[in-house]
Amino acid sequence: MAFLEVKNLTRIYGKKENQLTALDHVSFSVERGEFVAVTGASGSGKSTLLHLLGTMDDAQDGSVKLEGEDVLGMKEKQKAVFRRRRIGFVFQEYNLVPVLNVEENIQIPVRLDGKQMDREYLAKLLKILGLEERKYHLPEELSGGQKQRVAVASAIASERPLIVFDEPTSGLDLFHMRQVAEVVNRITEQGRTAVVVTHDPEFILRCCNFVIHMERGEIQESYSLCEPEGRERLLRFFLNEMG
Ligand code: ADP
Ligand code: MG
Repeated sequence: MAFLEVKNLTRIYGKKENQLTALDHVSFSVERGEFVAVTGASGSGKSTLLHLLGTMDDAQDGSVKLEGEDVLGMKEKQKAVFRRRRIGFVFQEYNLVPVLNVEENIQIPVRLDGKQMDREYLAKLLKILGLEERKYHLPEELSGGQKQRVAVASAIASERPLIVFDEPTSGLDLFHMRQVAEVVNRITEQGRTAVVVTHDPEFILRCCNFVIHMERGEIQESYSLCEPEGRERLLRFFLNEMG
């Protein structure tokens, strides 16, 4: 049994003449400890896919199974608990709590689970992400890139086995992208699994071992970066995208 199994996943927005098929029978599976990159043009369904993996949305057809459990079939309450224990997120609209400072925001997922965060681990995260001097600041006092890094720290701070990231390094300069790559790389070292939407080939090469290219709600191609031709395919894809 795969760690994460997506079968025929279909998400249709709108009704009748306004219908739009954002995901069209998408199927793939992910083993524990893999770090999967999802790429594709804007509007190809990447965020829709992540929302479904994160149990934040419902599908018209298909299933998502995490460690054999049918995620989409759960009742709302059950989903909420499942999400809190098993899935970490970084979404494009950061979701930091405005009245909590950086340190407090990072600890939310751990605290929600009734636990305390290891102080040493917290200090290490803050240091690697260059947020040490900002730990008592509120989100409104941070730059966009800093907020993004707080969101990343918060998502990986708890021990949740699956983490989904929607463009965690978009808008970051090279230096900060590499900081983020360094911390997120630890996730899979800990045997956790990640799915990340990204347009950054360097980030993919630093962190990911599997790639899914999406086009108009479908998987155009998918491959492992451990295969000899994997890196070649990735570079070809980005060269094509650049025109
Ligand atoms: P991506 O993240 O790859 O840019 P999305 O998953 O956000 O793509 O969107 C896929 C398609 O679904 C797009 O055409 C988008 O306009 C449409 N879409 C996304 N969210 C909604 C929504 N809430 N209502 C209607 N259409 C949506
Ligand atoms: Mg998106």
